[in-house]
Amino acid sequence: MSQNATVNSNSFPSGRPVVFRNATVLTIDPSLGMIESGDVLVIDNRIAEVGRQLVVPENAVEIDASGGILMPGMVDTHRHMWQTALRGFGADWTLTNYFMFYYINWGKIFRAEDIYAGNLLSAIEAVDSGVTTTVDWSHGLQTVEYADAAVDALEAVPGRFVLAYGNLLGAPWEWTKAPEFADFIRRRIDGRGEMLGMQLAFDVTGDPAFPEKAAFEVARDFNLPVTTHAGVWGATNDNGIRLMHEHGFMTPSTIYVHAATLSDDSYHRIAATGGHASISAESEHNAGQGYPPTWMLRRHNIPVSLSMDTSVWWSADLFSAMRATLSADRSREHMEAHKQNETVMLSHLRAEQVVNWATLGGAQALGMDSFIGSITPGKKADLVLIKNDHSPVMFPILHPYGHVVFQAGRGDVHTVMVNGKVVKYDHQLLDVDLAKAKQAVMKTIEYAQSKMGEQAWNESMNPEKAAVKYIDNPYKYTEREHDTSAQNESSQES
Ligand SMILES: [Zn+2]
Repeated sequence: MSQNATVNSNSFPSGRPVVFRNATVLTIDPSLGMIESGDVLVIDNRIAEVGRQLVVPENAVEIDASGGILMPGMVDTHRHMWQTALRGFGADWTLTNYFMFYYINWGKIFRAEDIYAGNLLSAIEAVDSGVTTTVDWSHGLQTVEYADAAVDALEAVPGRFVLAYGNLLGAPWEWTKAPEFADFIRRRIDGRGEMLGMQLAFDVTGDPAFPEKAAFEVARDFNLPVTTHAGVWGATNDNGIRLMHEHGFMTPSTIYVHAATLSDDSYHRIAATGGHASISAESEHNAGQGYPPTWMLRRHNIPVSLSMDTSVWWSADLFSAMRATLSADRSREHMEAHKQNETVMLSHLRAEQVVNWATLGGAQALGMDSFIGSITPGKKADLVLIKNDHSPVMFPILHPYGHVVFQAGRGDVHTVMVNGKVVKYDHQLLDVDLAKAKQAVMKTIEYAQSKMGEQAWNESMNPEKAAVKYIDNPYKYTEREHDTSAQNESSQES
């Protein structure tokens, strides 16, 4: 197809095979590795063949992938999609600001339609940036009507999703027992197959009475994986892990989000029971759950997946996640070495490993690696073509894994395929109603602003600044015209 052709859903009629031609293919399949000038043929919703100069059916639609990198669709294992309605609102928050805003003050004002609005925009954003599978860590589901709204939005977007059902305003041992909860699973999840999965999302406080036990039992009864924020400084800790372990609720399907502030003993328990971590490095850097722990997880042989957490604060594309993860890991290796007066001579974590975490690692964490996560013949065709002929950054491509992590960005996502269907081509989304999502989010913002009032809205978005105190300088600081509050404070004290 020519670059200038008007693209619409008719460009890729269903039933016609699609072949990607002449890409650098990162299969993430250990037996296939990387294929230069590679082709990938998709028939129906599956990857039919991977190789060079493939002979394809006559009616196949050809996508010119030359100059591009073709990789598996990315997998985000933890995103609070409903919070996308307030995108960027919490840019200057700490975790305490976040808890105050959603858990204490304002979480309760959000309505089912607000969950729908945030989810819809977030789901579109995910697909647009090449994240073909997203876990919607949906902890604003105050009633089942909210959960219906969440799923309505996910179903309106051609991505693969997992609803991690949660309610930050309720007790998990109560809401999981409600008859309408079981009914919801029957109505909205059962029979949806591989496009919509479900997990149970709740945190374990470490209360010695272990009230969460009942919620874990519900998860076991419904065969639902549990995803839990574990090792979050000031919120969850080793006691939660120990209680889960002692009661037999740590399983290979359990996902430990952040897993940052934990002891070796907790890591041993996670490793021994086969669980997976979900690391949101941008989040851990900024909010304060603890240092992004991949440098430690690698030593404990705990499998890693990546996530973006929430775009009320941060970006929501996995390019940012890969970059932040690799930077955090290497930064820590250097810092630890410097403490011993040593120099890191060889990098431990490689770009290739991080691309693996963003794709196959996520699929493995979700138990979906039998059908997604790599470009393997027979798997479902979830693919991302990173290609941008107008960008100076997409040339030259010498180290393709490093290129994905450090050079490319969401603006370079040219084509996205989910379950064999082209949902984005030539940088344009197909069959996606972005205007509708924008309108819904605008209504949520208007509503939240009027409900909170102007003062609370502004104060929540712009929390008080922490004071900076200058270090005593024996040479005296340079006087400057534009005094900052920090200088004022320092001069007051001197
Ligand atoms: Zn989270």
